[in-house]
Amino acid sequence: MAASTVSVLGLGEMGAALASAFVSNSHPTTVWNRTVSKATDLVQRGAILASSPAECIRASSELVVVCLVNHDAVKETLLSEATLAALEGKTLVNLTNGTPAQAREMASLVAAHRVEYIHGGIMAVPSMIGTPAAFILYSSSSSTFESVESTLGVLGRVNFVSGEDVGRASLLDMALLSGMYGMFSGAVHAIALAKSSGMPGSEFARDLLVPWLSAMAQSVGRLGQEADEGRYPSGGSGLGMQVAAMPNLVAASREAGVWEGMLLPIMGLMERRVAAGGVHEGLGALVEEMCR
Ligand code: NDP
Repeated sequence: MAASTVSVLGLGEMGAALASAFVSNSHPTTVWNRTVSKATDLVQRGAILASSPAECIRASSELVVVCLVNHDAVKETLLSEATLAALEGKTLVNLTNGTPAQAREMASLVAAHRVEYIHGGIMAVPSMIGTPAAFILYSSSSSTFESVESTLGVLGRVNFVSGEDVGRASLLDMALLSGMYGMFSGAVHAIALAKSSGMPGSEFARDLLVPWLSAMAQSVGRLGQEADEGRYPSGGSGLGMQVAAMPNLVAASREAGVWEGMLLPIMGLMERRVAAGGVHEGLGALVEEMCR
């Protein structure tokens, strides 16, 4: 069976990687980008360049993927009369980063034009697209998703997050990015501290930081379970002990001339929990504390 036709709107770093994966998997791919020059490589590899979003959308029998910088750019690109008419009867997969409310807004704006809407959250950087290292969260009705699931599979592992809310993939995308930024906040602070002692960042990261963070990541599953159960055993590392140690991290940063600001929010949250009686609880109690 011939691979289905696909349209991709947006050829930034991520959009170009998505289009490239479709081309590599023999899907006849039509592309559009505001800055036309970004299509050159893809066209050399067999993609067809459309001169407008509507022309790009019309080239696909079913699947239209949009990946632009933000929600406003998507609305600007898709919400003209000609573009909405071209979208009628098609499945629109929006892989643009945005909030759950923006996903819901987009779904309702296109629903009036008989467009099946899927909102996605890409958990990958462009070089991972098309490999099993990438996964993408998707929200929509099950029937809409089933019709395009195998085509979307060429982009990376498919993670359909069921539920009525089309904003769910976006919410989980935000949650995962929050986890990632937490890790990177700690990592950049740790590397700055290590370098202040004269240790090369590469050596510190390879020999100490990566093994340490890998070991600590093992307890993240336990935090999730504790948050479900509402019980927060300390596991031998109670918040009272941690609150006593945190000022040392702050003081050591200041002594080393390294900005201590990354540490202050989590330290404040721990202090608040301890003040509320959580001295013998573990870090899982902070999940509950965040929602108070
Ligand atoms: P880029 O900055 O590389 O590209 C932005 C794209 O948006 C370009 O195609 C640009 O067109 C287009 N654009 C911007 N403004 C407008 C507008 N007003 N009208 C029409 N098109 C517009 O970003 P990425 O491709 O990296 O990211 C795209 C989406 O993917 C974002 O939502 C991002 O958060 C998400 N994402 C990116 C990841 C990454 O690592 N890069 C990882 C996971 C998600 P032009 O070329 O003409 O400027």
